Amino acid sequence: MNDPRITIMQGGITKMEVDAIINAANQTLLGGGGVDGAIHRAAGPELKEECRSLGGCKTGEAKLTRGYQLPARYIIHTVGPIWKGGQRNEDQLLAQCYRNSLAIALAKGISTLAFPSISTGAYGFPLKQACRIALQEVKTFLGQDTTIKQIYFVCFSEQDFKQYQEAFQTMQA
Ligand code: ADP
Repeated sequence: MNDPRITIMQGGITKMEVDAIINAANQTLLGGGGVDGAIHRAAGPELKEECRSLGGCKTGEAKLTRGYQLPARYIIHTVGPIWKGGQRNEDQLLAQCYRNSLAIALAKGISTLAFPSISTGAYGFPLKQACRIALQEVKTFLGQDTTIKQIYFVCFSEQDFKQYQEAFQTMQA
């Protein structure tokens, strides 16, 4: 049966009215292209100030900041792996991004959050494989005791949206 706490949607993550959005950041945490750039632009310059104080972030780890001008109260920044062919622990590192982001959300008592498709843009992670990992990690997490009530997977493109829906349906079967 479908978990009603998981929603797959198409849109821009900066508009999400949730407790926290997840940022697919890079190790510097100082902003970049793609979703990271969009989040920094929408949150405003204060975000970069706070990020500067965090001293970067390792691949697979996650760090929390305020959301500033975003509708979301918090941003959880996580650094996805760069795809190098699949033999460099990419799957495990991507799973860690989801796990560590969810652990921060739980520790903060957050109840609603939104994920982008981590690593599948500039970092080149194969989309189908990445969305299976994303959904698996979230489902496992929701199977445990948690304060989290709603998780949105915000797909930017229609192609991503279709892949996520397909993976989700396959996993329910
Ligand atoms: P990475 O470096 O982790 O691959 P990217 O930002 O390049 O991160 O891509 C991650 C995903 O974020 C891609 O699917 C891209 O289409 C998507 N994306 C870009 N802008 C937004 C946005 N405003 N909201 C949600 N997703 C976005």
